Amino acid sequence: MEREVDVVVIGAGPAGEILAGRLSERGSKRVAIVERDLVGGECSFYACMPSKALLRPAEVLREAGRVPGAAEAVSGKLDVGAVLARRDRIVNHLRDDHQVPWLEARNVELVRGHARLEGERRVRVGDDVLVARDAVVIAVGTGALLPPIPGLAEVGAWSNGEITTAREVPDKLLVLGGGVVGVEMAQAWASLGARATVIEAQHQLLPREEPFAGDELQAALERLGVEVRTGVRATEVTRHGEEITVGLENGDSVTGDRLLVAIGRKPLTADLGLDTVDLPAGFIEVDDQLRVPGHRWLYAIGDVNGRSLLTHSGKYQARIAADHILGEDTAAIGDGPGAPRVIFTDPQIAAVGQTLEAALDAGVAAEAIDLPSSGTAGASFYGRGEPGTTRFVVDTDCEVLIGATFVGPEVAELLHAATIAIVAEVPLAKLAHAVPSFPTRSELWLKFLEAYEHERQATLHAGRALTGISR
Ligand SMILES: Cc1cc2nc3c(=O)[nH]c(=O)nc-3n(C[C@H](O)[C@H](O)[C@H](O)COP(=O)(O)OP(=O)(O)OC[C@H]3O[C@@H](n4cnc5c(N)ncnc54)[C@H](O)[C@@H]3O)c2cc1C
Repeated sequence: MEREVDVVVIGAGPAGEILAGRLSERGSKRVAIVERDLVGGECSFYACMPSKALLRPAEVLREAGRVPGAAEAVSGKLDVGAVLARRDRIVNHLRDDHQVPWLEARNVELVRGHARLEGERRVRVGDDVLVARDAVVIAVGTGALLPPIPGLAEVGAWSNGEITTAREVPDKLLVLGGGVVGVEMAQAWASLGARATVIEAQHQLLPREEPFAGDELQAALERLGVEVRTGVRATEVTRHGEEITVGLENGDSVTGDRLLVAIGRKPLTADLGLDTVDLPAGFIEVDDQLRVPGHRWLYAIGDVNGRSLLTHSGKYQARIAADHILGEDTAAIGDGPGAPRVIFTDPQIAAVGQTLEAALDAGVAAEAIDLPSSGTAGASFYGRGEPGTTRFVVDTDCEVLIGATFVGPEVAELLHAATIAIVAEVPLAKLAHAVPSFPTRSELWLKFLEAYEHERQATLHAGRALTGISR
C-alpha cells in the first residue's frame, strides 16, 4: 500500500526520535518513523546506557575508597550479579516498551520494519511505501567495523552489542582497539573480575585526545591489572576450542576466551537503497543544514553522516534539521570533531574543542596551560592529590579559549562551562568575572586565568611571542 505523510524518518535511535518529536511538536507535521529493531537505538540498549551502567558501580566504590571515613565502610567487592541486574533494568531488559509512549505522546507514527529508499521521497517498508511530502531523514546509525584481519571473521568476536549485554564476566578479555569503546569496556569488565588486555595500533590510548589523557588512563588501567599493548597491530586471529589467540606484528601473541573488536564504526547504509537516489553507500555527506547536497528533500543526521559519532551530537543535529525542515534559517556549528566528549572511565576524561597539536597544525597561535586537576580546595573532597591533568588551550591572538581537556575523578560535569566558553567565544578578560563557588572544583578556572595572566606578563617582559608555548 502507498500513502503520504509529511516526513519519513528512517531509524528511531536518539537522533531520529528527537527529530520526529520536534517536527510533530513544533510544526504539527505528520511524521512516520521506521525502526527495524528497538526504539531508542544503539545508544539506549547496546552502547551509552549499558556501558555506563557497567562502569558506574566500580567508580562509586573507588571514589568512596579515596575518601577516608567512607573508605573504611566499603571494604567489600562489587556484587557482580547486582551490577548486571541493574544494567538489565537500565536497558529495560532489551525491550522498548518504555520508549514507545514518548513517540505516541507526540503523535509520531511508528512503523516497524526495515526501510529502504525507493527513489525520490519514497521509502519502502515490506509491502508498504511511504511517500514524504516534505522530507526523508536518514538516521540509521552505525555498527561495529570488523577490520580485515585474517581469521577474525571466523572466531566469533564480540562487538559492542555482545559486550554490553554479556551475562557472565569473561575470564580473559582481549580488546582490539584502545579508543573510547575499548577502554571503557576493558575497565568495566576488569573491575568486575576479568583479566583484560587492550591492543592499540597507535602509540597511545585515545589517540585523538591530548597525549596525557591516554597516558594517565593507561596508568590507571595498569593499576587495575589491565595489560595495555600500544604501538602494535594485530595480524591474525585463531581459535582453538575456547581459546582465542591474537597474533601481533612484533611476533608476540595474546590469548583470551573473549575478543571484543572496538576499532571503529561503519555506517549502516549497505541495504538502504541509496543507489536508487544516486548516492554511494558509506557515511552520507551533508551540509550544515544536515541536508544531502543535490537532494533538497533528503537529510542525514546522527552517526550516519560521520560528523561526530556521539549521541548528543546526533540529538543536536536532529534539532537543527527539524528546524530547517520547518523553514527556519539555521546551521549546525556545535558538532564536528571539536564537539564535547566524555570518556566515562576512572579517571574520567572530558574534552571539548581543539587539542594543542590540532590547533598548532591548523596554524592557530595557541598556548596550553596545564594544571593538576586536583589543584583546588574543592578537589580535596574527591581524593586529595589524585593524579590527573587539566589543559586549557588558548588562541593567544584572539584571547579566547579554543580547547579544554579534564582528566580526573568525576570531571565530566566540569566540561559544559568550557563548552559554553568556546562556543560563545567568551573573551578571557570577561571570563575573569565568572566567579566559581568555593570550594568547588570549578576554581580550576581561576587557576587557569591566573596562570595565563602570569604567562602573559612573563612573556611581555621577555619580549617574546606566546605562540606554541606549552606549560
Ligand atoms: C559501547 C558504546 C558506548 C557509547 N557511549 C556513548 C556515550 O556515553 N555518550 C555518547 O554521546 N555516545 C556514546 N556512544 C555513541 C552513540 O551510541 C551513538 O553516537 C548514537 O547511538 C548514535 O545515534 P543515532 O540515532 O545516530 O543511531 P543509533 O543509535 O545507532 O540508532 C539507529 C537506529 O536505526 C535503526 N535502523 C538502522 N537501519 C535501519 C533501516 N534500514 N530501517 C529501519 N531502521 C533502521 C537501528 O535499528 C537503530 O535503532 C557509544 C557507542 C558505543 C558503541
